Amino acid sequence: MDLKSLIRDIPDFPKPGILFRDITTLLRDPDGLRYTIDFLTQKCVESEFKADCVVGMESRGFIFGAPLAYQLGAGFIPVRKKGKLPAAVHRIDYELEYGTDSLEVHQDAIHPGSRVLIVDDLMATGGTASATAKLLQKFGCELVGFGFIIELRDLQGRKHLPDVPIISVVEY
Ligand code: 5GP
Repeated sequence: MDLKSLIRDIPDFPKPGILFRDITTLLRDPDGLRYTIDFLTQKCVESEFKADCVVGMESRGFIFGAPLAYQLGAGFIPVRKKGKLPAAVHRIDYELEYGTDSLEVHQDAIHPGSRVLIVDDLMATGGTASATAKLLQKFGCELVGFGFIIELRDLQGRKHLPDVPIISVVEY
């Protein structure tokens, strides 16, 4: 299936010079959505990830991470922006192109020794995924891999990620 034809390009969003890859047009397409989740699942099975839980980053990581977790028979752990989670959290602050951002996860979300897969809709610089991997170090869990729907290869985000398998469905 030609998934790129279902991903809409929006020039100059969220600021001038950025070409935003809009996945809402993929999500609304029943065949495209099913194919994407099934493809990601198949790749994870082939890679023998055997994840106990899938960690997804707010907010588009939730859309793909939860159904993937369901398919893999794993649990789903949300990593959220600052101040959204109700119980005690671990937090990581990380650098953006301009300024900083924070991600949080519940302190009791992951058991030590669990096998964890990190999922997001898109990897650009790898900053978000890298920060999430660092955040998870606090749990003493085992990171088994990363899954992305879209990878922007030119930005070389892989260079910033730990040395585990990285799956992407579509590359630009
Ligand atoms: P990175 O941290 O790798 O530079 O950026 C990835 C994060 O920003 C992901 O959480 C992703 O949702 C968001 N993001 C950055 N650019 C785009 C884009 O063009 N399309 C979409 N859908 N998300 C983007």
